[in-house]
Parts: sequence; C-alpha cells; structure tokens
Amino acid sequence: AAHTCTLLSVRSATRRFGGLVAVNQLSFDLYPGEVVGLLGPNGSGKTTAMNLISGALPAHGGQILFNGQPIHALKSHQIARLGIARTFQLVRVLGPLSCQDNVIAGMAFKPRPLFGKAAAAHAQELLQRVGLERHAALPAGELTYIDQKRLELARALALEPRLLLLDEWLAGLNPTELQQGIALIRQLQGSGLTILMVEHVMDAVHALCSRCVVMHAGTRIAEGATAQVLRDPEVVRAYLGG
Ligand code: ADP
Repeated sequence: AAHTCTLLSVRSATRRFGGLVAVNQLSFDLYPGEVVGLLGPNGSGKTTAMNLISGALPAHGGQILFNGQPIHALKSHQIARLGIARTFQLVRVLGPLSCQDNVIAGMAFKPRPLFGKAAAAHAQELLQRVGLERHAALPAGELTYIDQKRLELARALALEPRLLLLDEWLAGLNPTELQQGIALIRQLQGSGLTILMVEHVMDAVHALCSRCVVMHAGTRIAEGATAQVLRDPEVVRAYLGG
C-alpha cells in the first residue's frame, strides 16, 4: 500500500504502440513538495510516461494513483481538474490571444472558476509570477521563445495544480535564461508545488531535483538521489547508447 503521504503513485504502468512497449511496467512514487527528474536517453519512454500520468494516453496496464485515487481510467480534463498540470515539449500557447487571455483559458479546469475582473486579476498575478506582467496585452505569438515558455508555465499554474509535469521546459534556453528558469522552478517548489520534470540539461537536474527516476527502453533502470543515480554505471551506459 502507498504511504499515506504519497502524492502520485505509478504502479507497473505499461503502454504499447503496436509491438513496441514504450513504457514497460514503470513504477515510482512522488511525495508532496518534491522536485523529481524523469531522465533517460531519447526514445526511452519519458514523454509517454508523462502522457499516461496526464491522461493524454490511456495505459494498457498498471495503475496510477493521485492522492490515493485511481486516475488511470480518467480523461485528461478530469485529471487536470484533480490538480495535475503540464507543459509540453513544443510550446502550445494560443498565438493570436493576448497573454492574459492565454492564462484565463488555462483557468478553465480550475476547481473554482473565476470570471470577469477576478479572472483578469488572477491572470495578472500569474503573469507576474513568471515575469510576464509587462506583456499582459501582447498577443502570445509575439513573445520570444523563453517568454512563450514562461506563458505556458503561467497557463499550467492557472489550474492551481498540486502536481506540475514539465516536459523539457528548460530546453533551448541560453545560460542566462537557464539560470532564470531554474530560479523560477525553485520558487514554485518553495510555494509547495510537487514537480516531475523530464530534463536533459544536467546542470538543471543537479540544481533542482532531489531524486531522479531513469528510464531506458521503456523500463526504469535507476531511481534514487540525483548524484548517486547519475553515477550509476547502468545509467551512464544507457546515456552513452549502450
Ligand atoms: P522519450 O520521451 O524518452 O524520448 P517517448 O516516450 O517519446 O520517449 O517514446 C518512446 C518510444 O515510443 C519511442 O520508440 C517512440 O518512437 C515511441 N512512440 C512514442 N509515441 C508514439 C506514438 N504515438 N506512436 C508510435 N510510437 C510512439
């Protein structure tokens, strides 16, 4: 049985694409307030695992519990409403809409929806939280790449999640932006959010993740404290393409 304070429990989750087992009996737990890295070489199943947790894809086996409640048979909007938000590897902001309206759109699945001025005020708070307060009226499509990533984060936060799934949110940033991005994630952790992050930027993994789960060819090959896991010979071999 899961420890009473387990926030997310992935238990033998499995997903196939035809004959390929993209996620093979994957198991791990997340505890409240943790920032955990989901690592592994390209094609190891990380994004598919995130899709199983967020309900974007149904699992073919296993269980996923959030706060002790089974979520593996729920639709993505139901899972969102329970408090799991995500960002995507390729940013998905609504280009023609203003930044403020993008954030308001993200509030659609909030447990207690806001309308009118209250929604606008809350959107402004969220934009401020990610450093976009000056761009509230700007169409999202006119933002720079990092600012679109910030906006995507604000949209995810608009859901008031308890668990945030970040899929390579720090990819493609220059060194200054990376430091800003790391600081922002730290700040979210400080506010009590639990975060599972797929990330290839190892400096960020070291800076942010207390624990990591490492996948290879769909299975979990290592799990534990970040520094130890990244020294694990099997992990090193997997990253070298062995
Ligand atoms: P990662 O995120 O670690 O790079 P993915 O989860 O994207 O890995 O992919 C794991 C495996 O599943 C890969 O072999 C990939 O080609 C395959 N895969 C992922 N999504 C699909 C899909 N929609 N249809 C077919 N195969 C897929």
